[in-house]
Amino acid sequence: MKKYVYAFREGNKDQKPLLGGKGANLADMTNLGLPVPPGFIISTEACALYYETDKKISSDVAEQIEEKLAELEKTMGKKLGDKNDPLLVSVRSGAALSMPGMMDTILNLGLNDETVLGLSEKTQNERFAYDSYRRFIQMFGDVVMGVAHHHFEEVLQGVKDKKGYKVDTELKVEDLKTLIEGYKKLIQTEAGKMFPTDTKKQLLMAIDAVFNSWNNNRAIAYRRLYNIHGLLGTAVNVQSMVFGNMGDDSATGVCFTRNPSTGENAFYGEYLINAQGEDVVAGIRTPKNMDELKSEMPKLYEELYAIREKLEKHYKDMQDMEFTIERGKLYMLQTRNGKRTAAAAVRIAVELVDEGMISKEEALLKVDPESLNQFLHKRLDPASKRQKELLTKGLPASPGAAVGKVVFTADKAKTLAQEGEKVILCRLETSPEDIEGMHASQGILTARGGMTSHAAVVGRGMGKCCVVGCSELTISEKEKIIEIKGKTIHEGDILTLDGTLGEVILGAVDLIEPEVSGNFAKIMEWADAIRTLKVRTNADTPKDAAQALKFGAEGIGLCRTEHMFFEESRIRAVREMILAETVEGRKKALEKILPMQRGDFKELFETMADRPVTIRYLDPPLHEFLPKEDEEIAELAKEMGVEIQTLKNKVVELHELNPMLGHRGCRLGITFPEISEMQSRAVFEATAELAKAGKKVIPEVMIPLVGKVEEFENQKAIVDAVAELVKKEQGVDFEYSVGTMIEVPRAALTADQIAAKAEFFSYGTNDLTQMTCGFSRDDAGKFLDYYVSAGIYKRDPFQAIDQEGVGQLMKISIEKAKPIRPNIKLGICGEHGGEPSSVEFCHNIGLNYVSCSPFRVPIARLAAAQAKIKETLNQTKK
Ligand code: PEP
Ligand code: MG
Repeated sequence: MKKYVYAFREGNKDQKPLLGGKGANLADMTNLGLPVPPGFIISTEACALYYETDKKISSDVAEQIEEKLAELEKTMGKKLGDKNDPLLVSVRSGAALSMPGMMDTILNLGLNDETVLGLSEKTQNERFAYDSYRRFIQMFGDVVMGVAHHHFEEVLQGVKDKKGYKVDTELKVEDLKTLIEGYKKLIQTEAGKMFPTDTKKQLLMAIDAVFNSWNNNRAIAYRRLYNIHGLLGTAVNVQSMVFGNMGDDSATGVCFTRNPSTGENAFYGEYLINAQGEDVVAGIRTPKNMDELKSEMPKLYEELYAIREKLEKHYKDMQDMEFTIERGKLYMLQTRNGKRTAAAAVRIAVELVDEGMISKEEALLKVDPESLNQFLHKRLDPASKRQKELLTKGLPASPGAAVGKVVFTADKAKTLAQEGEKVILCRLETSPEDIEGMHASQGILTARGGMTSHAAVVGRGMGKCCVVGCSELTISEKEKIIEIKGKTIHEGDILTLDGTLGEVILGAVDLIEPEVSGNFAKIMEWADAIRTLKVRTNADTPKDAAQALKFGAEGIGLCRTEHMFFEESRIRAVREMILAETVEGRKKALEKILPMQRGDFKELFETMADRPVTIRYLDPPLHEFLPKEDEEIAELAKEMGVEIQTLKNKVVELHELNPMLGHRGCRLGITFPEISEMQSRAVFEATAELAKAGKKVIPEVMIPLVGKVEEFENQKAIVDAVAELVKKEQGVDFEYSVGTMIEVPRAALTADQIAAKAEFFSYGTNDLTQMTCGFSRDDAGKFLDYYVSAGIYKRDPFQAIDQEGVGQLMKISIEKAKPIRPNIKLGICGEHGGEPSSVEFCHNIGLNYVSCSPFRVPIARLAAAQAKIKETLNQTKK
């Protein structure tokens, strides 16, 4: 029989795919001799089998659960369902990759009307026993039997109101008994079934529910958000219970070996006395910090501190641990690599190297390239901040700055964000249902909760600015208002959050540009020393180019020349050119454009100094430039000295049904050669001018949308002829190269012919994806989301290269081109050039550079280093 169930002592930390992250590390901690309450793990393979067999726990799995349960009972000297001394267990989810709070957990399992008496007798604590029982029924009723949480809250409130209690701790044993009966009745009415008293049945139902929670909506949404694919399912951890709610010598907490927000090497965490684990994460009571534990329970603090040291050395990474103290004894319930902000990730990585714990390569692999985005975002301008009113301070749960409109629900956050609004999600506390709304927001603000509350953990994971536990705020989600010190803030009002200081500010504070410094700069320096793939930028203006240089760009991989004309003062000349009826008319308009373009190129070359600059000739469908409003047409007609109607007719004539596949790219330069002549003149006159001033510029002229070598030859002839002319006219010599974009599948398939003529290829994977997959760039948004959630494409192919299809065309073209021109320079300039999995792919297929938007340059630099490190690791493995 295949093995599906493992005792903790049978597993190890390398078995995450099989045992889930939580299970593998519980096994590992057990084998390290740490105080872990015994238990067993039902594997992810059992979860996959569950889904294969129509959501049934197979007899093989059930049999092995029985076996391991019997072993556990023997170890603990207690039996599940024993009236005198019952074993109680927790049943918890845990997939290979951590998905905090997304799946289900059941605590205190094994209680019923009889075992509760045994527990009470054994612990000599009747209140504890009945409190555990009512918590169990509530959790089981909600998670396993599907009775919504708020129903239980209503019953609880009813009992409290009747007795005039304010807080739960005032409930007496008799009240708890009334509550238990109330809960049972509630389950019967709402679920139409009795709460099960058979403890074995409870266990199987709970396991069933955890397996099921793998596919609940929030778990699915989380996997989509974080691009988690290909996992078998969740494992289930069944562990004997330890109790943090047995009195004032008991506690439960969450701690980190280092600060997950800043990365500082300081023991960091929170705990609650006399509470159960879920109370800390739920953020309902505001917990105490680790320093207080040091004075409240010094010996236990020391023991925990020693475990902190041991686990960090063992895993060589920052750990996030859960612990429980039961009547003065410490137990470890979980450890995992902690989620952290980018600032913390970078600092921890650098300091682990400094402490001699890991190598630079290992450090680089620990930082998620995408997370660097957080460094590249703007910060609050201190001067502007001083002028605004500070409303209150909360806990600085996740750093950064956020300015946006106040919203109170995750749905509203999503809707407004889709409309392009910037929003701040304000909640009493967040819950896993809010995850998509949190993602859509600029920042998150909560009135309750501590540094390890749901909002804080998820906020840090997402790199979202987050301020929690602002107890001075009264947030009414129902009435959609926030009250603070006599002020009322309504939905739609603007707030600014400073996640680094935990400040909430009224109004919009100005933002300032980021810079590369400190540990971030160090990581970048290490990445640059390792990577072999160059990183250029897509920049159309000297301003973008200067920004990209600050972020470490090594050249321009794509200057989209049409973008130089979107400015109001220039677009008229372009319109004139497009609408001209004759070559002469067109030339006249082009003469107006030439000096503007020459000036732009000169400035761009100067900004980039001696770095390479690739200039792509005019590419877009011409109608993008056409006047649309009657008023615009009238003005232009006047300027051109033609009839309004004539112009209108021309606009109609130029209309295309399918502009993306229409009169664009090199088709423009081929049908209107004077456009390419003007562009060549602008490029080379700028080059010559700089050459005369003693500056060396080697422009790379790039022809777009080539599908046939003849198209390329046609355009190259123009470029070469103008270059010769300018050299003669200006009396200087200069170098240049002419290459092409590979963005039409036909070009990829005939790359040998094209390579014979073109000096470089740059993959335009935006168009290449459009034409290979047959998805219109303009329209695919409507269905691609669905495609991704249905698993048809694992990721949106416009974001991450579809390696199987588009990537294969890239490989084919390289194989064809290399024998013809071994030194051909290869790059990519589609949006994929800044996406880490695509950067790795580009490294692996042998491109020389990637080119991406300025703000993605650092991400690409790190991703390129990681690709190189992984390649070396794979080679040494072989
Ligand atoms: C491309 O197609 O990938 C590309 C870079 O060109 P554009 O996006 O301007 O069409
Ligand atoms: Mg293109």
